[in-house]
Amino acid sequence: MLTEIVTDEQLIDLYTTPGYLVAVDYPKKEVKLHTIDCMLADPISSVGVKPSKARENNTGEFWVSESRDEAVSKAEEISKNKCYTYTVCPICDR
Ligand SMILES: [Zn+2]
Repeated sequence: MLTEIVTDEQLIDLYTTPGYLVAVDYPKKEVKLHTIDCMLADPISSVGVKPSKARENNTGEFWVSESRDEAVSKAEEISKNKCYTYTVCPICDR
C-alpha cells in the first residue's frame, strides 16, 4: 500500500519497517527512490529528507510503500507527469 508521508514523525516511525521511500524535490525537479533505512531518507540525519518542512514550504512530497515495484511505479508516474528526473539513490540502491 502506498502512503503519503506529511510529517517527519511519520517517517521516523517507519524506520524499522522494510520499505521504500519516494522523495520528490520540487525545486530540484527530482524524484528519488530510497530504502526507508537510507540515511538520506532519515529526517533525524542532517542530510536526510524533512517531510514536515517540505510540506510547510511546499517544496516536496513523500510516499512510502513496502513494495519496491509500487514505489517505482509512483516515482515514474510523478516524474513523467511533472517532467522531473527520476533516479534511484546510489547510496541505498540494492
Ligand atoms: Zn538512499
